[in-house]
Amino acid sequence: MTPPASNFIRHIIEQDLASGKHKGRVQTRFPPEPNGYLHIGHAKSICLNFGVAESYDGQCNLRFDDTNPAKESQEFINSIKADIEWLGFHWSGDIRYASSYFEALHEFALQLIRAGKAYVCSLSPDEAREYRGTLTSPGRESPNRNRSVEENLDLFARMRAGEFPDGAHSLRAKIDMASPNINMRDPVIYRIRHVVHHQTGNTWPIYPMYDYAHCISDAMECITHSLCTLEFEDHRPLYDWILQTLDKDSLHAASNSTQPAEDYVLPRQIEFARLNINYTVMSKRKLKELVTEGYVNGWDDPRMPTLSGLRRRGYTPESIRNFCDRAGVARSEGVVDVAMLEHSIREHLDTTAPRAMCVLRPLKVTLSNYPADQQETLVLPCHPKDESMGSREIPFARELYIDASDFEEVPPPKYKRLSLGAEVRLRGGYVIRCDEVVKDANGTPVELICSYDPATLGVNPEGRKVAGVIHWVPADASVDVEVRIYDRLFNKENPDDKSVADYKDCLNPDSLQVLSGCKAEPSLRMAAPESGFQFEREGYFCVDRYDSTPDRIVFNRTVTLRDSWAKISG
Ligand code: ATP
Ligand code: MG
Repeated sequence: MTPPASNFIRHIIEQDLASGKHKGRVQTRFPPEPNGYLHIGHAKSICLNFGVAESYDGQCNLRFDDTNPAKESQEFINSIKADIEWLGFHWSGDIRYASSYFEALHEFALQLIRAGKAYVCSLSPDEAREYRGTLTSPGRESPNRNRSVEENLDLFARMRAGEFPDGAHSLRAKIDMASPNINMRDPVIYRIRHVVHHQTGNTWPIYPMYDYAHCISDAMECITHSLCTLEFEDHRPLYDWILQTLDKDSLHAASNSTQPAEDYVLPRQIEFARLNINYTVMSKRKLKELVTEGYVNGWDDPRMPTLSGLRRRGYTPESIRNFCDRAGVARSEGVVDVAMLEHSIREHLDTTAPRAMCVLRPLKVTLSNYPADQQETLVLPCHPKDESMGSREIPFARELYIDASDFEEVPPPKYKRLSLGAEVRLRGGYVIRCDEVVKDANGTPVELICSYDPATLGVNPEGRKVAGVIHWVPADASVDVEVRIYDRLFNKENPDDKSVADYKDCLNPDSLQVLSGCKAEPSLRMAAPESGFQFEREGYFCVDRYDSTPDRIVFNRTVTLRDSWAKISG
């Protein structure tokens, strides 16, 4: 792979390395919340966090930000780990969990209370919202803001002991109710939630809020550069306030730092633009809705922008990493064309995928002048440009299949495929001519009676013009396969646009077409799950990793050979 493109985050890291700020250390983290499967947007964050760590001899942690147990699960944890490994990245040391810092986070909350920097607020959630004010009006102070340290410690201890129901109290940082930044108006840092946690069980009836837990977790893991998406820009003052208000020596003592306290540097949050892609929705809430309401067949449905969906669709880790690198890292939001993602996989498969022939809509061809008891073996290269990929054998006999769409009884002008009385070349084989069309009662062609020219194997007939080459498979030796033709899940460029009442109104009704009874060349019988092929003239396909069995071989279309949407939208 080409080295990653430079960007403003790499500049900052290089400056920090030059100034010796972190004594040469680069420590990043990827912090997913285990409340869904990873999507291609997360891949951008993964490539960035693991990528910069790799480039600068640093380390990247995987930390589950599991502070909201009601929405989280072990299933999501497992899928996230598998997806990161599949992309080819390695996290440093053990997997971390914000929940394993709950004890320390609790200690730091006590420290804030003792310092008069946090208080227990007893406003109801509705009242608290009302007191918070708006973007244009300042907030009002909670009537509990000036509780004594003793009373706060007592109430917080009882919150922690599980004495109060959900929502009865919260712990808030005491910052500034008049701040123009709403995040600084005494944000809640702990709330009561009587929920069992997937890691800590029922140890805790209170849970820290993300903004509070995240910065402290970063500090405890000695993160140098905490990279996150732009929506956290307004949260940065809170990130800094919490770390600067806590006693630095106690942060150092709680951290996994192996350096002396004077070398301990607090992490810096840096925001970058999230990845958006047209014809795609990326919010986990919406992806979850598509799954739970049955619009797709699970999180790893090949139409989903999840990494497990893209994988099942036939995307390779290389293509996704290349795409993320091309999409770049910027400070301002933009929308990337999904054609760029499709280009990345085409580009990778063009060089790596063996060629094969598969007839999606079989139409029988009988070669009247080919002896019924004869058969020969044709040898075709697996790749037109890469001899190292070897060759494959295809039996050739009297009966074949071609694709129904490659025949027109009465051809339109400049038609390059087969028509009555015309000639075409079979890929890697002979030139044939159609002499007769056999039709069913509806007038649909069901068989073509053709003749072949024995002098045309691998040579062009002198003085005759054979314009087209079509793919084919032998009738007897071919393998029956099911082919799932996937297309974009949405047919509107921006399903999230304000002019659209519901993004689900933009679902493409033709995003999946199942073709059973397709006929593939015999070499595909042994194709391994997930292996990718170019079906000549049809596109790139892969063996479905779950549904394909030796008895029922299933291929998914990864992408067409060319961008078929460009002319529609263009
Ligand atoms: P979503 O908004 O899709 O629910 P999230 O931000 O809630 O995503 P997290 O699990 O918290 O999901 O994300 C883990 C990391 O991935 C965070 O650092 C987040 O900023 C980053 N991330 C999430 N979505 C994108 C995106 N579209 N582009 C780049 N990074 C993203
Ligand atoms: Mg998030």
